[in-house]
Amino acid sequence: MMRHRMSVVFALSILVVFNTSGASARRNTPPKVAILHHAASDATSVASATGCKALSVRVVSYGIDARLDADKKAIEATETLTYHNLTGQPLQTFPFHLYLNAFQPQSTFMSEVRQSGTRGTGSEAGWDPKHYGAIEVQSLAADGVGDLTPQMQFIQPDDHNPDDHTVFQVTLPKPVPPNADITFRMTFHDQLPEVVERTGYKRDFFMVAQWFPKVGVWWHGAWNCHQFHATTEFFADFGVFDVKVTVPRNYVLGAAGDEIGSDDNPDGTRTVTYHAEDTHDFSWTASPEFTDVEDSWTGTAGPVKIHLLMSPGHLGLKGRYLQSLKGTLDYFDRWYGAYPYDRITVVDPPRGALNAGGMEYPTLITGGAAWWEPPGLRLTEVVTEHEFGHQYWYGMVATNEFEEAWLDEGINSYVEVKIMAALYGQGRSLIDLWGATADDEGEQRLSYLSTPDADPLTRFAFQFMSSAAYGDTTYGKTAAVLLTLEGIIGEETLRNALHTYFERTKFTHPTGTDFLKAVGDASGQDLSWYFNQAVSGTNVLDYEVLGIRSDRADWYRKNPPPGKKGQTLYRDTVLVHRKGDFLFPTETDIRFDDGETVREKWDGRDRWVRYTYLKRAKVISAEVDPDHKVRLDRDFFNNSQTAVAHPGATRKLEVYAVFVTQLFFQLLAWLV
Ligand SMILES: [Zn+2]
Repeated sequence: MMRHRMSVVFALSILVVFNTSGASARRNTPPKVAILHHAASDATSVASATGCKALSVRVVSYGIDARLDADKKAIEATETLTYHNLTGQPLQTFPFHLYLNAFQPQSTFMSEVRQSGTRGTGSEAGWDPKHYGAIEVQSLAADGVGDLTPQMQFIQPDDHNPDDHTVFQVTLPKPVPPNADITFRMTFHDQLPEVVERTGYKRDFFMVAQWFPKVGVWWHGAWNCHQFHATTEFFADFGVFDVKVTVPRNYVLGAAGDEIGSDDNPDGTRTVTYHAEDTHDFSWTASPEFTDVEDSWTGTAGPVKIHLLMSPGHLGLKGRYLQSLKGTLDYFDRWYGAYPYDRITVVDPPRGALNAGGMEYPTLITGGAAWWEPPGLRLTEVVTEHEFGHQYWYGMVATNEFEEAWLDEGINSYVEVKIMAALYGQGRSLIDLWGATADDEGEQRLSYLSTPDADPLTRFAFQFMSSAAYGDTTYGKTAAVLLTLEGIIGEETLRNALHTYFERTKFTHPTGTDFLKAVGDASGQDLSWYFNQAVSGTNVLDYEVLGIRSDRADWYRKNPPPGKKGQTLYRDTVLVHRKGDFLFPTETDIRFDDGETVREKWDGRDRWVRYTYLKRAKVISAEVDPDHKVRLDRDFFNNSQTAVAHPGATRKLEVYAVFVTQLFFQLLAWLV
């Protein structure tokens, strides 16, 4: 997900100041029986009837038949879920997510929004009935068991709020034995909200996401099925989806599966059938106003069909969407691993529906654009890059976003910095317009600086100090932590570590321990000293040059001769201070007026270090972290001192750049 759009926007405008101063065989055509002939490393198929190896352990198999009522903004559906009990033990109770029930005034989600806001809503926003959303399971039965509707019961494992109806559970009369299957059959009704928090409708545009009863994940010996929170995203098992969607015939559809059939019905509707394998969610979108821009890209695993569903007035931006998407596909393919699916759909939300934008689902992402966006203001590009990146970390690696959001959003933010710089240029990857430049690295850093010490990266997503702390830490701080890690193990080693991590853990729901082990293995180093502070700690990193001084060695003489460059002897001292509680090895460059530069190294453990020289030269300047590798350093301005101050930096240019940037972001805020 793209976070806090407007605060990022504001941050970008400030940033300019800093900046100016400083899978093998694939199917190429959708067959009726879809098969992926993938040689996955350790995944075994339990669902593939063909005997071909699947990419993932397919725990779930969903069959959904959904009919959209475009006037009532509602969906009537039936759902069949076959759950394969691979837990190694009997299971009698099954929890299900009902995400749409978050959009109700007494839900936990909304009370958390009220406390500290969330992506698209400030904490002071009142309740707006048009944002009401609901999902009602009208009936539930299981094969061989019969009707279970009376057994359904809402549970609140996280906060015991009895008014929160985002999770229900059902208890069977007898357990499902290990390695056996159970098939649930449901009918359910969705009332969609006007777009809010990634889902809903706007006029006749529909973004249908988190819309069906979804079973929890048996993980580490227990059910993992958290309530829907203002700052949480999702976690689900891999499997197979067979979904039929019925919409008015004039609607253009997009969905997270291969289209394998389309039938026109006598009542003026159309039913389209989709199939998806080795994914853990299924979302779809519909609008009579979409233009479906079709394209393709070919990577090491074969061709990928691209559907770009453009909203009215935005067609002029299709080239920018496609350039960013294909460029991102290229870099992921080259750096981290092959994209194994044969499709990717990008949804361009219409005017007024940006709250449905900037979001990821398996093989379907939502972007964000405004018709007036000038080239050089790369909002469309960065959102596309970011959401596609989730196909790897959220889509395939599939970590638990409720509990370890940094492994998805954070790693994705770091990769976003790298790919945006590779595609659009270091230092100007976000804004390169009328002489104003800003880059993504700086934007992530500003986010980190907003809340540098409230929470460790490892906090459960719904337990951060605030919504802002969640975002600043999960996205910005993780990016800064990984950028700083580049300075310790090297950029290429970190890239290899991410590649190792992806290949080793894809489709397996790994944890932070697995990620840190991959980094340790790739680097051959014990990095626990760093991770304990940067990942599981809240330590703040800040080193400063506290003072520089050149004192004549003959200071005691009554009438010393005038100082002569190269001849007079000085006692030069430089004092470096650790302001924060983050211990980090530092380098300091000390420049003298005879042209010499000395690089000093310090383990950074004590509170301060003083460097003393007896030299026929004066100190000109001292700078901590001269190669600018320590992106976690909270304050760059105290990293250096010069013997002679240089007041009156070129403020005019900075002010102009800020003006340009703010003007555009203000326009964006009004128009989207
Ligand atoms: Zn994201």
